[in-house]
Amino acid sequence: MSGPTRHDVVVVGAGPAGLAAAVAASERGRSVLVLDQAPHAGGQVWRHRRGERPAPVLVELLRRLAARGGAIARRAAVLDCPAPGELVVDFDGRIDRITAPALVLATGAVERLLPFPGWTLPGVTGVGGLQALLKAGLALRGQRVVIAGTGPLLLPAAATVVKGGGELVMIAEQARGSQVVRFAGRALTDPARLLQALRLRMATIASPYRADSWVVAAHGEGRVREVTVHVQGAERVIACDWLAAAAGLLPRTEL
Ligand SMILES: Cc1cc2nc3c(=O)[nH]c(=O)nc-3n(C[C@H](O)[C@H](O)[C@H](O)COP(=O)(O)OP(=O)(O)OC[C@H]3O[C@@H](n4cnc5c(N)ncnc54)[C@H](O)[C@@H]3O)c2cc1C
Repeated sequence: MSGPTRHDVVVVGAGPAGLAAAVAASERGRSVLVLDQAPHAGGQVWRHRRGERPAPVLVELLRRLAARGGAIARRAAVLDCPAPGELVVDFDGRIDRITAPALVLATGAVERLLPFPGWTLPGVTGVGGLQALLKAGLALRGQRVVIAGTGPLLLPAAATVVKGGGELVMIAEQARGSQVVRFAGRALTDPARLLQALRLRMATIASPYRADSWVVAAHGEGRVREVTVHVQGAERVIACDWLAAAAGLLPRTEL
């Protein structure tokens, strides 16, 4: 380890939250360092492949940060916080210490995975997990996919499956229909969000969306081949090649 490096503000996480905090601090005259363990800035939602054009909003945040001298260290995993304001960081294999009078933790979320028989079979993933695999280039053309669980990621993941040529067999939402309607009703106050949800549902309209439905078990020898889904009071066995199931997101709090 070498001696500590100092910045006014250190932000852990170069996703939407971390970059917004970094831009706000740098535009108020603070020296800022953003650390992210990933090879690209953007976090989960703005994840992109090498050679792919990043989202314009990401490009704009990076431009504003760079304009104020803010730095981003990629492949920089924060391992520990041994004392207030001190971080131990793995800079792509080199361990170093960072000191910051102000520290922003914007490390995002992890999926809440609820176990069921067969949940460790190959071909069973989280909903965000499947989304991340697709963004990384997983080819699903012609493969049957069931998306299940609850939370805001079901529709975006389903739309990505359809866009990638996958056969979306069913979206099984665990919440009751009345809860889904109430949730959609709240979006009326946020027209942009409502429009986004409508667009996503239109993109997946050829596939059934069932509320009050959840995975009972996944079956298969060596990989998932079928899934038993409780669909509005009755159990159905559905053939599939991929099952993506998760019950929402939890904040990533280990630091
Ligand atoms: C697997 C998964 C896939 C998702 N896919 C989508 C999607 O496609 N569309 C969508 O709208 N939402 C998606 N989400 C929801 C996502 O959490 C939010 O949309 C949004 O990305 C949250 O922004 P954020 O800045 O809080 O966190 P994130 O975007 O998750 O950014 C957090 C960043 O912190 C970094 N980080 C975490 N721990 C450390 C550490 N110890 N050291 C260094 N860096 C660290 C991560 O590498 C990451 O880049 C996904 C969530 C998950 C868990």
